Amino acid sequence: MIQVKNVTKQYGDFIAIDNISFHIKQGEIVGLLGPNGAGKSTTMNMITGFIEPTKGEISIGGYDITKNPKKAKQQIGYMPEGVPLYNDLTVKEFICYMADLKMVSKTEKKQHVEEVIKQTNLIEVQNKLIKNLSRGYKQRISMAGALVSNPKILILDEPTVGLDPKQITEIRELIKKLGKNHTIILSSHILSEVSQICQKVIIIKEGKIIAIDTPKELENKTNQNKFIKLIIEDTDSKLKEIVKNIKGIQKIDLVKDNEDGTKEYVIQTQGNIDIRKELFAKCAKEQMTIFELKTSEATLEDAFMKLIQTQNKEEDKTCGQS
Ligand code: ADP
Repeated sequence: MIQVKNVTKQYGDFIAIDNISFHIKQGEIVGLLGPNGAGKSTTMNMITGFIEPTKGEISIGGYDITKNPKKAKQQIGYMPEGVPLYNDLTVKEFICYMADLKMVSKTEKKQHVEEVIKQTNLIEVQNKLIKNLSRGYKQRISMAGALVSNPKILILDEPTVGLDPKQITEIRELIKKLGKNHTIILSSHILSEVSQICQKVIIIKEGKIIAIDTPKELENKTNQNKFIKLIIEDTDSKLKEIVKNIKGIQKIDLVKDNEDGTKEYVIQTQGNIDIRKELFAKCAKEQMTIFELKTSEATLEDAFMKLIQTQNKEEDKTCGQS
């Protein structure tokens, strides 16, 4: 449905997007994830045809966005960041205006406008002025504007920024619902957001793609090792000796040596091995009191941070060698 091939975007000498390629299938909900300034908006603006790539090709439903912009753009509904709306219009007037801009035919306009008002839950405010409505409503109005031409593809730039938790939940539910009939790309710097909504995540950093995966795969890949935090009475520093035969332990680090004789350790283990039972038994046998024993659950957040840090380390190495 969307094919991005070797795309680079330069602003003068600055390379904002550096030779990225990816493919999005029909019906997928894909998250473009990365820290601020990574290049998410630039990528979206190129896909929507607002800015032209310096190099490379983008095709939307088989149409090249540069060579055949009209056909390509017809398939896209775009919700830009920061909900730019006409505040002095009513909700319905704005959506009708968007329908005109997108050249929705007169015969279809009334039905489309009513449909999107229903879809985005705006019935009760459709005749109110936009300026009097909350940010949550404004976000939905912007989404209705993107949807009114019944596009196959929806592109949503930071759709939950500035919303309160209730509004965030509503927008996420709406995106999931829309995902049943649309291909969706959304950008976010919020990791839990993409893991909840998206089937695929494209992680972008400093204009480069550093990973493309499902949220689950991403977690698994970067979570080969688990960590156990152990606080234990270990005045004689015996822990390492007594647990040395437990299978699956890769590393034991003493992170705190307290004056009361307790010590805090971080034990690194292989991903799918849970050593807690055995660890508990060995410590109990030595009559060493355990004050705390817990595994750390790696989240997508960890995965993301790890990926970014790994990338940084590799860059440091390259710099060091040159
Ligand atoms: P994100 O959406 O991930 O926050 P952007 O795509 O907005 O990132 O920006 C990527 C990089 O390109 C940033 O370093 C930004 O400062 C730069 N950039 C974006 N637009 C322009 C522009 N029109 N001129 C120069 N630099 C730009």
